[in-house]
Amino acid sequence: FPVENIRNFSIIAHVDHGKSTLADRLLEITGTISTTGHNKQVLDKLQVERERGITVKAQTASLFYNHEGTNYLLNLIDTPGHVDFNYEVSRSLSACQGVLLVVDANEGIQAQTVANFYLAFEAQLSIIPVINKIDLKNADAERVEKQIENMFDISKDECIRISAKLGTNVERVLQEVIEKIPPPDVSTNDPLKALVFDSTYDHFRGVIANIALFGGEIQKGHKIMSSHTKKTYEVSEVGILTPNEQPVQKLYAGQVGYLIAGMKEVTEAQIGDTLCLHKQPVEPLPGFKSAKPMVFAGMYPADKSEYNNIKSAVEKLTLNDSSVTVHRDSSLVLGAGWRLGFLGLLHMEVFNQRLEQEYNASVILTAPTVPYKAVLSSAKLIKEYRGEEITIINPSEFPDNSMVSAYLEPTVLGTIITPDEYIGKILALCQTRSAVQKDMVYIDEHRVMLKYLFPLNEIIVDFYDALKSLSSGYASFDYEDAGYQPADLIKMDILLNGNSVEELVTIVQKEKAFTVGKTMCERLKDVIPRQLFEIAIQAAIGSKIIARETVKPYRKDVLAKCYGGDISRKMKLLKRQAEGKKKLRKIGNVEVPKDAFISVLKRQ
Ligand code: GDP
Ligand code: MG
Repeated sequence: FPVENIRNFSIIAHVDHGKSTLADRLLEITGTISTTGHNKQVLDKLQVERERGITVKAQTASLFYNHEGTNYLLNLIDTPGHVDFNYEVSRSLSACQGVLLVVDANEGIQAQTVANFYLAFEAQLSIIPVINKIDLKNADAERVEKQIENMFDISKDECIRISAKLGTNVERVLQEVIEKIPPPDVSTNDPLKALVFDSTYDHFRGVIANIALFGGEIQKGHKIMSSHTKKTYEVSEVGILTPNEQPVQKLYAGQVGYLIAGMKEVTEAQIGDTLCLHKQPVEPLPGFKSAKPMVFAGMYPADKSEYNNIKSAVEKLTLNDSSVTVHRDSSLVLGAGWRLGFLGLLHMEVFNQRLEQEYNASVILTAPTVPYKAVLSSAKLIKEYRGEEITIINPSEFPDNSMVSAYLEPTVLGTIITPDEYIGKILALCQTRSAVQKDMVYIDEHRVMLKYLFPLNEIIVDFYDALKSLSSGYASFDYEDAGYQPADLIKMDILLNGNSVEELVTIVQKEKAFTVGKTMCERLKDVIPRQLFEIAIQAAIGSKIIARETVKPYRKDVLAKCYGGDISRKMKLLKRQAEGKKKLRKIGNVEVPKDAFISVLKRQ
């Protein structure tokens, strides 16, 4: 395929604005998938994506399209929209020369529209604005065009109005892709230079690396080398994604496809790595900023005998999702496990759900925490800490303030876009989250964009839910890393019948300790079932108790419900209780449900 007939592009948008639906239509028009079935978000392959209706993993599809007598190869990379998965977007963009920026005609520009626009703008890609859902009764394409002019300085004449659902004007989109997005600027005569922009693990075939060719060509039998590890491999298969893997003879410069080369270890197909021919090393392409975990939590097998199975599941899943960081960890109660770093809470929930659904692994997750830092006052005296500044990813390892000169907490710059009638409520919410306002601009007559600096800890668990509920779903939110700031932090213990629970240790801002402690005790009271004895739930700072709740004793005698001697009904009830118990975990002598650790942190 001549390079000038190749276009590599991505679809970016706020969540639910129709990226995956537009991708479906593009696949149909180009005959990549049949139009007879009812295609719905066909690129969302994972079960969790189908159940939640969100895209988690970027997907690639090669489309063939004839335009005015010329055959074109269009490589489409679908991307997720949710804030937690932004790193997937920036990774996909590195393989593209242009994007379709999709905006819902009814909702207009939202927080992630802005974030995604800037990702594409900074990568200097051609941006084609697409206004979707014009079939909706409340669609107001004109207003959205004005917003696009205001915010992005793109003329409204460049906007394409479409309905991805009905297929209206979608053909136009393909023509614009061909006319406005430049072909990749590469040559087949150069030595092989292939960027690994994604990789997946297949149980049978090992590692499958998604690659974009910036130079040369590649085929079965080639000996290649990783610029990163210098390890060499023999290529056993190359192909394109349609969107399923379809082997081809050769991949050429400018193309996007996949490669299998006997990589078995999960660490071998490093995302951002440059592959070259064994005998022709090249200057590696700039890699990616590695995704920075924002949220850490402990993960333990629900059943300790499952440790090895879960270990291998975690390894495989982290290959498919390299933004998760893994450290070994152990807890007195929960045994051997890991401390995992995630990009956000949704990312953590999705990871957990994928473990359960794709690997049949049942795990306990402990309360999420952000990476705090402590500046040690007398580092030389404390042997186990070498540096002056340490990062704390496990609250139970929070150093005592007698050896610390300052604590630091991670912050984020949040963007909120909302109809102006909710401003009052949103300002109040941000105030309770210790946020500092940085900016406030109108994006049209009735919509406002607010920028706030938040302590990360204040938004990870339930900020988004709170924002959605007070704005009847109309406000949107996105955030980016904004570095560390000094904070007055303190460690809070939670005691169950007098025993401190390591997994519930929390780090809080001093001035909020009382409120947070009280809410945590109340939440725990709601989730811990009554047991044979009374349970005291206490929050403590050092030896000082600052909050308390009590769970009254109760005997849950399932058999009492069983009048008569119906033995099968009796067995069924006993079995049900046994199953209920599996979901509980003993901490000291108290049984705690396995999802308690996360629910205690919700404030709303
Ligand atoms: P994504 O999150 O951006 O990938 O969005 P999806 O493609 O999953 O679409 C989100 C929702 O919007 C789905 O319920 C789609 O059926 C719906 N949708 C997408 N495009 C259109 C459209 O043109 N018109 C209407 N009425 N609904 C649409
Ligand atoms: Mg999608």
